[in-house]
Amino acid sequence: MINISRPNLGDEEKNAVSKVIDSGMIACGEVVKEFENTFAKFAGASFGIATTSGTTALEVAIRAAGLGEGDKILTTPYSFIASSNAIMYTGARPVFADIEEGSFNISPEHIESKLKQTPGIKALLIVHLFGNPCDMDKIMTIVKKYKLILIEDCAQAHGTTWKGKPAGSFGAVSAFSFYPTKNMTTGEGGIVLTSDSEIAQRARMLINHGMQVRYYHDIIGYNYRMTNIAAAIGLCQLKKLNDMNGKRIRNAKFYYENLKNSALILPTHTDGHVYHQFTVKVEDGMRENFTKFLEENKIGYGIFYPLSIPEQKCYSAMSFETSYQVTDSVKNKVVSIPVHPLLTLEELNEVACVINRYKK
Ligand SMILES: *Cc1c(COP(=O)(O)O)cnc(C)c1O
Repeated sequence: MINISRPNLGDEEKNAVSKVIDSGMIACGEVVKEFENTFAKFAGASFGIATTSGTTALEVAIRAAGLGEGDKILTTPYSFIASSNAIMYTGARPVFADIEEGSFNISPEHIESKLKQTPGIKALLIVHLFGNPCDMDKIMTIVKKYKLILIEDCAQAHGTTWKGKPAGSFGAVSAFSFYPTKNMTTGEGGIVLTSDSEIAQRARMLINHGMQVRYYHDIIGYNYRMTNIAAAIGLCQLKKLNDMNGKRIRNAKFYYENLKNSALILPTHTDGHVYHQFTVKVEDGMRENFTKFLEENKIGYGIFYPLSIPEQKCYSAMSFETSYQVTDSVKNKVVSIPVHPLLTLEELNEVACVINRYKK
């Protein structure tokens, strides 16, 4: 079986975790601080606030940016549900704008028409889906024109760049996830990044029960603190990230050169894409046939995502508009194939040969 993802953990991580355990300081401490500073620097932000997950990082990012009850936040209907759930937790409400067929990312044209249709939208939450950067030239123009607060969901975009500038450095605030399937992991974990000292301070308070002085709680916060154990893994992973992303890009390049099957549409390549996923499209109605073929040939795959967010059952009571032309077409065609850094050349070859043999 060639798996769709596999965390790349080894002796470095084991030793780093051992060191933390031996130190006796396993909860949030100096190692977390070092990880926050190192990761923030890597992604071009002044401040990093590490959290328990990408989801909690997003929630804190939204709250720390001053958004909450009753605010409207424009976002994509085509993502992992956390990007929208994080909005819901704060009492704000998502407004969805359709995506682009080629990049799978929220469409600047649809953003602008939604802004014109819907008065009072305060913020825009973008997702660099599958590691592919959103068109930040167009997005930043809209953000300035409509004076929006920009939040970046970089849960799939560690190391993603747009014209050389890192994802996570464009918005007022951004959030990353370190779940094991992502481009780097801490087990579970996340981080909020910002270069705004006030947002950073609010985020810091939110993740630590609203405290600046111990046992003096200025606001109702949470315990969303990362542990030193997780941070120690994160520091090792961050050292390997460039190399791991390089392998993902190499693997994607292999597919662009070697996948030759007219039943498949390959993803569009953008510079700065780090291929969290390599997502192909098959003809509408043929997906089950294709995935069955992959299963028979022991090739792992993922369907990211089978439903749009607004049509999920948990959103059904909230009367969101549920039809989005591009999203609805794409969601029935996508299949992500293994592109992770631990794939060997033999495995890549095997995936390509199997897929090239597929006949609809
Ligand atoms: C993984 C992911 C999240 C949530 O991260 P967790 O660490 O799993 O909580 C949020 N948004 C997107 C786009 C993701 O892929």
